[in-house]
Amino acid sequence: MRVAVLHAPKDVRFEDRPAPAITQPTDAVIRIAATCVCGSDLWPYRGVSPIDKPTPMGHEYCGVVEEVGSAVRSVKRGQFVIGSFFASDNTCRNCKAGYQTSCQHRELVGGAQSGRLRVPLADGTLVATPDIPPDDLIPSLLTLSDVMGTGWFAADAASVKPGKTVAVVGDGAVGLLGVLSAKQMGAGRIIAMSRHETRQKLAREFGATDIVTERGDDGIARIQELTDGVGADSVLECVGTQESMMQAIHSTRPGGSIGYVGVPHDVTLKGDELFFAHVRLHGGPAPVRRYLPELLDLVWKRKINPGKVFDLTLPLDRVAEAYQAMDTRRAIKTLLQP
Ligand SMILES: [Zn+2]
Ligand SMILES: [Zn+2]
Repeated sequence: MRVAVLHAPKDVRFEDRPAPAITQPTDAVIRIAATCVCGSDLWPYRGVSPIDKPTPMGHEYCGVVEEVGSAVRSVKRGQFVIGSFFASDNTCRNCKAGYQTSCQHRELVGGAQSGRLRVPLADGTLVATPDIPPDDLIPSLLTLSDVMGTGWFAADAASVKPGKTVAVVGDGAVGLLGVLSAKQMGAGRIIAMSRHETRQKLAREFGATDIVTERGDDGIARIQELTDGVGADSVLECVGTQESMMQAIHSTRPGGSIGYVGVPHDVTLKGDELFFAHVRLHGGPAPVRRYLPELLDLVWKRKINPGKVFDLTLPLDRVAEAYQAMDTRRAIKTLLQP
């Protein structure tokens, strides 16, 4: 079976590896219906997060269960399922509290950019769709594996409420779905920060009311200007750089909240700056498993269409091209078909 393997920066190969098999009684093996490249895959691809050995890539997936281990109870062969990038038992104290990505038994799911995938802790991790989905729903279902749930968590962590003013830092797939999430949660005004025309257009389609093209101090000044000099009630930080984090902190009104979901890279927060900002910070790896049933229902009833973030679809054997397209920002997000 072939899988996308990162060998070195900018060197992704689609190569043969042993096919996944059940190794634990709690495992399932699924046949991938669709997978994709994540913004976080670009950190090792660009050499920002070094790898020490050739690494099978991909952690976003949906597909049909082919085989289950002897202890698996809730997931059956033939079901169409979606799961998070972290496998979780969904029974421990952290899972019960809604933080499945901090599950006491969590396992990172890797190697999803392939035809088949082993998913550990299948009962806790996978959620089945009511039926085999029609093809046109698959892109939206795939987003529930990470980006849609991550955008939703950013909005939830930033306490987005009906009528409130929201600012979104980052116009990648997560930022755009943060806009969709804020809209769905009833935000009154949604300010998307983007300087990229196609992304601005999608942000507006998802519910953005204002677009800010400036960045850094100018971006902060523009948000202040749009909010009577106080800042937004809720800010979603969906990038993970020093600049984006500071932009988020200084775009939030005193007493407001920030949901940060961009994986931080070399971000340092100064205690005194944070102290005087008077904001709440909550974030981390999104517990997408918590939101899966609710978001699945919204997609299934066609109330949201997060699959629109895929503006490029390629056969899986052209995975190297998929990385290039996202690295150069030619594509927002690339869907891969095995
Ligand atoms: Zn991802
Ligand atoms: Zn757990």
